[in-house]
Amino acid sequence: MHFHILTLFPEMMMQGLSTSITGRAMDKGIIDIEATNIRDFTKEKHGHVDDYPYGGGAGMVMQAEPIYLAHQHVVEGIEQRRALCNEQENEELSEKKKTPRVIYMTPQGRVFNQEIAQELAKEEDLIFLCGHYEGIDERVLDMIVTDNISIGDYVLTGGELPAMVVIDAVSRLVPGVLNNDVSAEFESFHDNLLEYPQYTRPEEFMGRKVPEVLLSGHHKNIEAWRLEKSIERTKERRPDLYEKYCKDHNK
Ligand code: SAM
Repeated sequence: MHFHILTLFPEMMMQGLSTSITGRAMDKGIIDIEATNIRDFTKEKHGHVDDYPYGGGAGMVMQAEPIYLAHQHVVEGIEQRRALCNEQENEELSEKKKTPRVIYMTPQGRVFNQEIAQELAKEEDLIFLCGHYEGIDERVLDMIVTDNISIGDYVLTGGELPAMVVIDAVSRLVPGVLNNDVSAEFESFHDNLLEYPQYTRPEEFMGRKVPEVLLSGHHKNIEAWRLEKSIERTKERRPDLYEKYCKDHNK
């Protein structure tokens, strides 16, 4: 899977994402992440990419042209890569090869969740647009953006951290990124339930023992205990999810 990021802070993105699990997935070639500096596409002699908002008001607005050109550059790169591998590909694969989705990270978007992560993980390429200052000239957003995604109802200084959050969540759903694909399948939010409590060695820590059932080796009982704990925990911590779970299971 290929992630492309349009940003004013490419180093921040690459540093953040090239550590730990996403970094290892990049090293193995399972995912690749490329950050394009929007500033490289400005024609302004001092390298400015922002200007005052028409109509007045606080702050600066990112200009349309550098973003438009940076996007065009990334799309051309994707097309070239696809043309190179085209000969080896069959019909089924070419189905996925539509124009890549462009995700604008914005507090005004759909609030990100595991379902959206699963939907995005099916794509071959994703382009992320990170805003800064007061935001981006609406005209270029109208021209290139296909999805508006927020990571929550609060305002951050830029779209870089939100894009990292989404890329991290999507990457771990790409086959091969986690050591064991099952670990992504049964985590929190699977079937609208939070994950059950986890324990590791030692069996006793400061007088607190690991629940007996987990030491029994009886897989059916362990599964039943975990489901019970998941339900209990979801009901207590996320009544909204618990309600959905009950509805799906006619409870
Ligand atoms: N003036 C904008 C508004 O009120 O909607 C907020 C601009 S914010 C200071 C600058 C940039 O940070 C945005 O363009 C967006 O890319 C990013 N951003 C801020 N909060 C975000 C959030 N909750 N989710 C995703 N992106 C966010």
